[in-house]
Amino acid sequence: AAMVKETIRVYARVKPVGRRQQAGSYSVDNEEHLPSLEITVPRDLADGFINNKQESYKFKFQKIFDQEAKQDVIFDSIAKPVAECVLSGYNGTIFAYGQTGSGKTFTITGGAERYSDRGIIPRTLSYIFDQLQKDSSKVYTTHVSYLEIYNECGYDLLDPRHEASRMEDLPKVTIMEDSDQNIHLKNLSLLQATNEEEALNLLFLGDTNRMIAETPTNQASSRSHCIFTIYISSKEPGSATIRRSKLHLVDLAGSERVAKTGIGGHLLTEAKYINLSLHYLEQVIIALAEKNRSHIPYRNSMMTSVLRDSLGGNCMTTMIATLAMDKRNIDESISTCRFAQRVALIKNEAVLNEEIDPRLMIVQLKKEIRDLKDELALVTGKQRMSELSQEELLQLDELIQTFLKDRDPDSSLDVGADMRKIKYCFVHMKQIINHPMTSGKKLFSQDISEEKKHNEELEKLKGLLQQRDNEINILVTMLKKEKNKARDALSQLNAAYADLTILKQSPSMSLEESQSPSRYFSLEEAKVFSSSIPRSPFLSRATGEKLSLGCQEAFEVFKQDHADSITIENNKQLLKQR
Ligand code: ADP
Ligand code: MG
Repeated sequence: AAMVKETIRVYARVKPVGRRQQAGSYSVDNEEHLPSLEITVPRDLADGFINNKQESYKFKFQKIFDQEAKQDVIFDSIAKPVAECVLSGYNGTIFAYGQTGSGKTFTITGGAERYSDRGIIPRTLSYIFDQLQKDSSKVYTTHVSYLEIYNECGYDLLDPRHEASRMEDLPKVTIMEDSDQNIHLKNLSLLQATNEEEALNLLFLGDTNRMIAETPTNQASSRSHCIFTIYISSKEPGSATIRRSKLHLVDLAGSERVAKTGIGGHLLTEAKYINLSLHYLEQVIIALAEKNRSHIPYRNSMMTSVLRDSLGGNCMTTMIATLAMDKRNIDESISTCRFAQRVALIKNEAVLNEEIDPRLMIVQLKKEIRDLKDELALVTGKQRMSELSQEELLQLDELIQTFLKDRDPDSSLDVGADMRKIKYCFVHMKQIINHPMTSGKKLFSQDISEEKKHNEELEKLKGLLQQRDNEINILVTMLKKEKNKARDALSQLNAAYADLTILKQSPSMSLEESQSPSRYFSLEEAKVFSSSIPRSPFLSRATGEKLSLGCQEAFEVFKQDHADSITIENNKQLLKQR
């Protein structure tokens, strides 16, 4: 929302001093950057001493309107700028503050004697309806309410039963606060006024109903606060945005101190209430003027509760300090000016009040959805449901799993140009990342067990390889040993052969006799040898067993010595023959 930084504008208006009254001493300077009002009073007057010493007080105002200022000037300078703001969607408040008889009601509502004495309310209504009529670009609705606060109780001045019954018997206006801390007033009628005349009739009805109490200071001065509110809502044709603003025109009760009124009983109670509520108003105003103040005591009085959105924050606020400058009232005028100086410190932030009519918004959004669906169906060629089907979700889960398991850095997850699916994938992956133990369990545990399986297999193969290596080593060593043995045996056989050649010549000598057990393979030795090489190529050929890799290798080694083995074989055959 647009914001407008504004301090509360404070004006002063001096009421004409009556013919029989003694005028006090004051001077107005409107030429300065900030106009000032200087009030001069005899010093120590209260002590009763007569002396020539004087004391002067100087107060700054936005502008000071002296005795001769007319109602039209007051409206143009004070009320019109606020009305303009309200017409453009901001809240506004104008309140009159001053002692009884200083001209609050005259300024806000006006005098009844002359048409030219019309005050701010009728002039503002006239101005607003004029402006609304000129603007055909928007549809405007206007309502008014008129609230009177008397002894901390709210009364609806526009209640038609007012004339028939006493005010105390009417339903009281009460303050309700919604969850957004917005103030609602129960039992306060908001009556629609479609034109100036209707609105003026309502103002007149309210004024007739206004509570009037007689006091010695002023015969017709109100002892209560009166708030006339104009509500404007505007909407451009076809738009769902409604702008709402309201203008409070506040006629406060007299600000005079109780002692001054010199009255007792019932009226004293009234005065106490009046002063107390003004005291709370002042507290709120001081709190608003303080920087970094988070708590504003609006709830202390009905007055401040009602004006809550009209004193600080979302509001253009203006105060008119009404002053009676006759000698008897000058000290009250000084206290009014002091109050005004405090009020002038408030910096307001006015916010444009815009809200969306929910019904219109729904209609608009529904239409938009329909259009978009049609467009989508046109582009994709199929009608799309708002929710993904169970089947589609399962498909997506599978796609995500495959994607996550794929170790290829270039792999991609393609679910097509469907925002619902893309969103689902992100949500699902987020779940997997945030809660791997639950949502991603299946995925990861599978991964882990697979890796474990791989490792186990690798270890098993490594073990097997080691075993084979050992086997080979054993066999190789064994073969080497046997090769040496065979070489020895061969040389022995050769020697024996040589012997045999000799024996050939003396056939009476048998082989068994000529062999010494230490020099020849015994039968036992041969058995041990063959069993120590269980998969020896000779035996495997016999049993038909398939050769292992290690054995084949060993066999190759063995084959290197094949020439010897042939000689051995020949020798064996030869020996067998012999
Ligand atoms: P308040 O509402 O502050 O008690 P009123 O507005 O009732 O005071 O004024 C008291 C009397 O003075 C009324 O008779 C009113 O017409 C008259 N009066 C106040 N201000 C002016 C003014 N600026 N010009 C002429 N008469 C005024
Ligand atoms: Mg009055």
